[in-house]
Amino acid sequence: MKKQELTTAHQLGDMPAEEFKKYGYELIDWIAEYFTTIEKYPVVPNIKTGDIKNKLPENPPSLPESFEKIFSDVDEKIIPGVTHWNHPNFMAYFNSTSSGPGILAELLSAALNTNGMLWKTSPSTTELERVTVDWMRQMLGLPEPFWGIIYDTASVSSMHGIAAAREEVSEYNFRHKGLTGKEKTPMLRLYASEQAHSSIEKGAILLGIGIDGVRKIPVDNEFRMIPEKLSKAISEDKANGWRPFCVVATVGTTSTTSIDPVEKIADVCEQEKLWLHVDAAHAGVTAMLPEMKYIFNGVERADSLVVNPHKWMFTPIDLSLFYTRKPDVLKRAFSLVPEYLKTAEDSSVENLMDYGIQLGRRFRALKLWFIIRYFGVNGIIERLREHIRLGQMFASWIDKHPDFERMAPTPFSTICFRAHPTRMNDEGMIEWLNEQLLQKINETGKLFISHTKLNEKFVLRVSISGLRTEERHVIDAWKLIQNKLKELL
Ligand code: PLP
Repeated sequence: MKKQELTTAHQLGDMPAEEFKKYGYELIDWIAEYFTTIEKYPVVPNIKTGDIKNKLPENPPSLPESFEKIFSDVDEKIIPGVTHWNHPNFMAYFNSTSSGPGILAELLSAALNTNGMLWKTSPSTTELERVTVDWMRQMLGLPEPFWGIIYDTASVSSMHGIAAAREEVSEYNFRHKGLTGKEKTPMLRLYASEQAHSSIEKGAILLGIGIDGVRKIPVDNEFRMIPEKLSKAISEDKANGWRPFCVVATVGTTSTTSIDPVEKIADVCEQEKLWLHVDAAHAGVTAMLPEMKYIFNGVERADSLVVNPHKWMFTPIDLSLFYTRKPDVLKRAFSLVPEYLKTAEDSSVENLMDYGIQLGRRFRALKLWFIIRYFGVNGIIERLREHIRLGQMFASWIDKHPDFERMAPTPFSTICFRAHPTRMNDEGMIEWLNEQLLQKINETGKLFISHTKLNEKFVLRVSISGLRTEERHVIDAWKLIQNKLKELL
């Protein structure tokens, strides 16, 4: 760009401090106002595909633009296309909400912009991560051999668990030899329930195990893996020349939040010498509640575990916690230190780049630290407990209503149900009714719920875990669902 093309407002270098302060304060005011008035927004925007893109210029601006202009475009062009995950009536999927302390920590993290690839490249980034991850370990009631690290998402955490499991299959030296081009390499087999999250298969694809290398174990009528079927599958596979190496149990499955019997699965894993990875991405945080401790029965015997504070602990996306009792295996799988990254402290510190695929590491621990300190462990527990109370309350309304039925147990605050009017018996008709009901509810913009399929049946799903969701929102959601059903009938 020619010198004369630069405006006077933007010479070389960064935004001047005064300007940063002016717009920074404005942005903070905007965010505070957003949270105060969030209920005025439709939870899901009523727009068509391409509506937002069509409002934006195709080419980047060659000259600087003012922040006034950028802010007004946020209001006019971006916000209309935002789905408001922070909205108290966002009850789809899992409600991943942001919080004041989390947002402030993100701001600070961006300002410091540290890269914690090595201890030396920002000691506080590494050491605060070590401390907060260990605080979370204590909060979750995990025993001390569990060592943890922060990754971005549960998909990536589980991929690292599966990679460590693969590394344990030492006889084939996959790290050096790879998986292909050898005549006698056995097919590795990983086991997970039919209800396990798709990220497990994605991890298997990425690690050369392939979709065929994942055997889905049937579930019981409460959507929990059947351990006897697991044992049987392992025996069959061994007889047929497979090399079983890993089992993934889920505590809080994606569709119904069912809890696999980890204790019994751990027995099988110990007997068969298989790596046990536990996916507790969504519901794992509730192990903090004394009355919910039971969900982690047997988890202390797992080799690795994932829990996502960005799903149900008010942490701005993204932050996933990965724990393992065998960090040495994880390190063996991933550590590779080029000359330029060697430091004098290497033998006395943990360089977090050694424990995963990524080199660069942003300062995610800061938001965990802010959140735990601001709410306090008890404050977090109280909020999670209230969500579970609201979830149980909603489940009881479904159970009492003659035109609705619950389709799965509700161990947490996710309710799977469907409309099933008393005189309607045709499954095709019931499915059509529920599809229509979902559409009618969501197009109001007042509530956002999602769906799943259970035993081939179309099921509606309400998940209550938003930081701003109160009893009145759940009551209104239930009224809206009933009214929409009445309209349809
Ligand atoms: N595991 C479970 C049980 C989930 O419910 C989900 C997402 O809903 C995931 C894994 C994937 O999470 P992420 O988006 O953090 O990769």
